[in-house]
Amino acid sequence: MDGKRVRSSVDLELQGGSKPELQKRSTSTILTPGMMIFTCFMFLPLMVLLLGANRNPSFEWLLGVEITAGKAGSKYGSSASFSEPPNDKLLGGLLSAGFDEASCLSRYQSALYRKQSNHTPSPYLVSRLRRYEALHRRCGPNTELYQKAIEQLKSNRSTEPTECNYVVWVPSDGLGNRIITIVSAFLYAVLTDKVLLVDLSDDLRDLFCEPFPGTSWILPSDFPVNNLESLFLNAPLRFRDVLGKKLDATDGSLPSYLYLHLTHDQRFSDHMFFCEEAQPLLQRTPWLLLRSNQYFVPALFRASQYEKELSLLFPMKSVVFHHLGRYLLHPANPVWGYITRYYDAYLGNAKEMVGLQIRIFEAAPISSDQMIAQILNCSIHEGLLPEINLTEPAQPITQRTQPKAVLLTTLYSGYFEKLRNMYYQYATTTGEAIAVYQPSHEEQQHTEKQNHNKKALMEMYLLSCSGALITSGYSTFGYVAQALGGLRPWILLRPDKGSSSCLRATSMEPCFHSPQGYQCIAERSSSNEAVGHVRECEDVPGGLKLVD
Ligand code: GDP
Repeated sequence: MDGKRVRSSVDLELQGGSKPELQKRSTSTILTPGMMIFTCFMFLPLMVLLLGANRNPSFEWLLGVEITAGKAGSKYGSSASFSEPPNDKLLGGLLSAGFDEASCLSRYQSALYRKQSNHTPSPYLVSRLRRYEALHRRCGPNTELYQKAIEQLKSNRSTEPTECNYVVWVPSDGLGNRIITIVSAFLYAVLTDKVLLVDLSDDLRDLFCEPFPGTSWILPSDFPVNNLESLFLNAPLRFRDVLGKKLDATDGSLPSYLYLHLTHDQRFSDHMFFCEEAQPLLQRTPWLLLRSNQYFVPALFRASQYEKELSLLFPMKSVVFHHLGRYLLHPANPVWGYITRYYDAYLGNAKEMVGLQIRIFEAAPISSDQMIAQILNCSIHEGLLPEINLTEPAQPITQRTQPKAVLLTTLYSGYFEKLRNMYYQYATTTGEAIAVYQPSHEEQQHTEKQNHNKKALMEMYLLSCSGALITSGYSTFGYVAQALGGLRPWILLRPDKGSSSCLRATSMEPCFHSPQGYQCIAERSSSNEAVGHVRECEDVPGGLKLVD
């Protein structure tokens, strides 16, 4: 779809319409945003009446209903879409074959839903993942070495180098933020030969499958450090406090754990984390408790100590999340059920699917009409969606066509109704039928609720199955979808960043929003080859992302 530019009255009008040919178009029959919004408002009350009663259906009544099973099952036969085995279910060697398939259906069935990746993992990455898995099996929960490390943690002294060293990931912020930090922490663990354990407490339980065969990445519930999520308030052993002190492992003064705080909040950031002089302390500390809401992978690429290893792991730089995300993040069976049922019911029949992610931030409010205008401006201008023709309302189609699907994800419901109404009430100039779908509208973020997070994961995943993707700038929710899908999205820039349209992302990688607080990132000279692959993000001024 790259480069196909359809002239759009929406686009032209938004840009001011001052050129002579634009004035000629003022009598055009093509829908302008103002007309469209007016039309949508006309029909909105009716739609609300029709749909309102079914907003939040409860299925409790089903419990009391006796359902008689059909005689011969579904008329489509059983599991029709799974009859063909996926082409490359191990994703180019990323995935180990040593899992029980039924325990995590998404791991090997993903290839049935998401398009095959254009990027093959390097043989070195594949071998490092197998080496990491072996380390995790040796040191993971329920092993002797884990028990030994726990004893040392309890004693709060580190006197000798340990065979197993750990990074404990502590959740922070929404699901997108959490996922980008899990991927960052995993890459850090691989680079430093540490073992990643994740604190998947209540709200994240049952979202993801185990990624490493024959072991677990879940931090056991009897982990002796309590209240991990509030450690930033009063952690006794904070990396930045300990760093300055003269510590000596031989006299037992080296702590057995350190708390690392790598968030956007520069006041609290442990800004020396990426510096070379901090590495010996980090390397010798058996337990690192890491809390972050940032995709700090670009900073690892700027750190000289990892330069050689990273160039072997990732000869192509902009595929880090793509590979590691596809390796680590497999929706657990209940979420996979949501994904596959939704996909097969609504999206599987479309000839193409455009993902559209709308995220509104408090810091950058925008009216829904402005947002719709920005979306149309972008999607019509970039040839992602067709224009509509106001002279042909509800014309019957002469030939049956497969629809093009728009998968819309957002917390709110109004956008869906406007877009859907617009595309079924008026003919498109291309003759295409556009079907708009939105799986949920939760209205508010509720990261503390497990089922809310399951829906969020489902939607990120479904977006990653798109052929083309439009995302909202700044949103880590969108970053996860784009990078999992291997998609370079069109980014709707935030209104406070002064644009009413979109930009094509230079790579599929997420943006590291706040690198400014960390020393040794800004300071790195261009002598490091990888530094040339770290650029300012198009959606976040001052942010950094990997490009090729
Ligand atoms: P970010 O704040 O956009 O960077 O993304 P996060 O994922 O970190 O936090 C936003 C959270 O709000 C999500 O994790 C969801 O809980 C919720 N949310 C935001 N947008 C959507 C959406 O389109 N669909 C669903 N189901 N939840 C959303």
